[in-house]
Amino acid sequence: MPAHQKSLALVAHDGMKDALIEWARPRVAELSKHRLFATGTTGGRLHTELGLDITLLKSGPLGGDAQLGAMIAEERLDGLVFFVDPLSALPHDVDVKSLLRLAILYDTNLAVNKTTADAVLAHFDTPK
Ligand code: PGA
Repeated sequence: MPAHQKSLALVAHDGMKDALIEWARPRVAELSKHRLFATGTTGGRLHTELGLDITLLKSGPLGGDAQLGAMIAEERLDGLVFFVDPLSALPHDVDVKSLLRLAILYDTNLAVNKTTADAVLAHFDTPK
């Protein structure tokens, strides 16, 4: 993997999927520099609607969030863009909490909205 290339996961809850797609649309070229992962439904839309090349994990409620948590614990993920729905209760809330907890614990570049997602991309582009 080229030195500047990072592994980045993209996830959005159902109520936030349109927001993630619209954030990603003008950033396809920038996102394509990185190795992308996504939970199943989010990634399916990003691939179909924007043509992004993405490794699809399971859908979030079926273990996709847990798969991303494991990647973080194994230090295989550099960044997580996770558009959490602030207005809905979710059946897999325990997995969402676990994923966020691991991202905090492992000091992962973490974005939960458009502004912080831009900050993560900008950080990836900053030479060390
Ligand atoms: P999905 O999962 O992309 O498969 O919808 C996201 C989630 O709900 O955590």
